[in-house]
Amino acid sequence: MKLTSKMIIVLKLFKISFIGILKHIFRYGEFPDLMVSVDCESRFIQKIHLNKDSFQEAFIDGTYRIAHALEKRNFNGVFFINITEYITGSEPVKNKIEQLLKYLIDNNHQIGVHIHPSLYDGNLSPDICTYNSEQIFSMIKESCQIIEKLTKTTPTIFRSGGYCAGRWDLLYPALVKCGITTDSSVFPGASNLHLGRFDYTSFPYSWRYRPNKTDLRKTDSSGEVLELPISVAVKAKNNAEASFFRFDFNRPVWLLKLMAMYYRSHSKKHINSIYHSKEVFQENAESKGFRQLTSLLDWFPGHNGSVITYDNLPHFSQ
Ligand SMILES: [Zn+2]
Repeated sequence: MKLTSKMIIVLKLFKISFIGILKHIFRYGEFPDLMVSVDCESRFIQKIHLNKDSFQEAFIDGTYRIAHALEKRNFNGVFFINITEYITGSEPVKNKIEQLLKYLIDNNHQIGVHIHPSLYDGNLSPDICTYNSEQIFSMIKESCQIIEKLTKTTPTIFRSGGYCAGRWDLLYPALVKCGITTDSSVFPGASNLHLGRFDYTSFPYSWRYRPNKTDLRKTDSSGEVLELPISVAVKAKNNAEASFFRFDFNRPVWLLKLMAMYYRSHSKKHINSIYHSKEVFQENAESKGFRQLTSLLDWFPGHNGSVITYDNLPHFSQ
């Protein structure tokens, strides 16, 4: 059947009204809490800043841009900083990261540890779990100490570079020893992304849980680290564009899925939405990731200055 221009107009009107109804339901229902978590890093993570402009745009400018978009709407974000770039960077790189961290803290955002270990040795392995226990501990410890030194705050949250937490038995003791109380590496539906070795394909779309000390998939109330998986509305497909876990509020299917998830539960929920500084920044153009972020933020009313970060999440202790 050939679509006439009249039919296209009718379909567009239907889409607009459908989205309007969904927005209305959301507005007058109880909203889940929204957390915006951001991985702050350059585009080229395997080698030390091949291109200085890339570092400036992708890491620094991209992070400021997201922070400003949040502040404009009275939101705060959780920024996972790839401290490996500070450790291996030149003096100008170090200065820029230091200024960035100070800015984020001064504006009431939260800072977490993010590590892409390949930068240490030029190795192509992006997976922290390929290193031994002592190396994993010293990498996390060093990152925590740098954040403490630069910001006078103690980091308590961690997201593994490339979502790599496949050897939880190695990672867990290091996190606990470093004072990390929350991990946010699990990405339900994904496996072995970016040369890392992990399998989250059968992980439930949990909003949060306490994993067992050696098995990330099992829940265990005695576990000392809380896991806040990245929220996924549509089942992740490996190596597909990452937009499937960003809630695009201009797409009714995702809204319906989100509503279904929300109404199936009986308790207050949160959405842990993830962005990357390197994807949000795009010179001379509004990137898709940035549009998705701002449309999501504009949809969430009622936050008016409240700070939703991992530390003050309602029902955090559950
Ligand atoms: Zn990363």
